[in-house]
Amino acid sequence: MTQPGRQVAVVGGGVLGISTAAQLAARGAGVTLLADGELAGGASGRSLSWLNSAGDFPAEYHALRVLGLQRYRAFAARPDSTARIVFDGGLRWGDGVRASFEHQRDIGYPAEWLGPADVAARLPGVAVDAVPDDGALFNPDEGWVDLPSLIGQLVRDLETAGGAVRTAVGRCEVVVAGGRVTGVRTGTGDVLAADAVVLATGADVPRALAGLGVHVPDATSNALLLRTPPFAHRLRAVLNTPRVALRPAPGGGIVLDAGWSEEQVVRRDDGTFDVRDATVQGLLHEASQVLAGHPVLTCESRGVGRKPIPGDGHPVLGAVPGVAGLTVAFTHSGATLGLIAGELLAGEVLDGAPSPLLAAFRPARFG
Ligand SMILES: Cc1cc2nc3c(=O)[nH]c(=O)nc-3n(C[C@H](O)[C@H](O)[C@H](O)COP(=O)(O)OP(=O)(O)OC[C@H]3O[C@@H](n4cnc5c(N)ncnc54)[C@H](O)[C@@H]3O)c2cc1C
Repeated sequence: MTQPGRQVAVVGGGVLGISTAAQLAARGAGVTLLADGELAGGASGRSLSWLNSAGDFPAEYHALRVLGLQRYRAFAARPDSTARIVFDGGLRWGDGVRASFEHQRDIGYPAEWLGPADVAARLPGVAVDAVPDDGALFNPDEGWVDLPSLIGQLVRDLETAGGAVRTAVGRCEVVVAGGRVTGVRTGTGDVLAADAVVLATGADVPRALAGLGVHVPDATSNALLLRTPPFAHRLRAVLNTPRVALRPAPGGGIVLDAGWSEEQVVRRDDGTFDVRDATVQGLLHEASQVLAGHPVLTCESRGVGRKPIPGDGHPVLGAVPGVAGLTVAFTHSGATLGLIAGELLAGEVLDGAPSPLLAAFRPARFG
């Protein structure tokens, strides 16, 4: 049972924090969302945000991701929402993709194997000469989300339900007394009292938990997302190819990233990032190779920073052991999981009943 009048502080202005905050407020909690800078200023503001369960995931992780896709479909159908959520499928080729297709068929994940001629007929924005002769994997139920627009809608939901948003409050720290959270100290020195705290600070989570004596392994990486200006293209699906991943973006351009280009991003000692122009040009070139007509692409903006990734690659969601009242949300694929994770975590915070859907993802697994 939700206890009326509970005050919950949610730290982090990305999709996980805002989704959880909106769900908490909708269930009657008093919610304050705190962000060091602007909303969507972290990974959520520079994410490819392909909505998928395309990997060879353990059954419980696959199930959570599929629920994540379902929540997006329901959100996309809301007549009052301005979030940009598109389900035009995902197309993938490269090493291991045929085995992925067979696995997906075995577990009932919607999947089709398309030859180049099928791709030409069904996905006209894709360069057919880039598709391998032996074909590509098409997942018709996949899509993408523009996270800043989703965050905008979730903030409106939060505020409509009576929640408050405080941005630019500096680096927040969880305040603990006697083994229980009592609130949050902002970077500007205020202390906000709370009965419960949700820590959703993306790449900063392992540092914050370490300060409370809780170890969460960290595999956070550097990341780079390029955005092109609008240009004439017919791409609809999300493309994942050996050298580049890309999708359409609101306004008519595309966004793109790749594993190899992430590895070329350098994080300086002062926490700022260096991106070589050759990396940017190389990534644009790779995108051109997989788009019909091989357009010459330019870069409108580059989003560079950290991509939160737990050390074992799996989500870290739920109550933090040894710190009563503290809940954490730290995950790779936080776009796909954003809505479902917020929903389940809000239920746990307010009802005190652990969700069986999150049983495999507890921070307690690290001992
Ligand atoms: C290039 C790229 C591609 C991606 N592709 C995909 C994909 O295809 N599919 C997918 O599902 N996911 C993808 N992701 C991952 C997904 O975008 C992230 O998992 C998700 O956005 C993380 O959300 P978050 O709320 O945990 O963190 P963030 O969005 O990073 O938000 C954390 C917020 O907390 C704030 N903060 C940090 N520390 C503090 C503090 N101490 N006090 C106050 N505020 C603080 C930050 O400023 C930030 O606003 C990708 C990410 C990147 C970067």
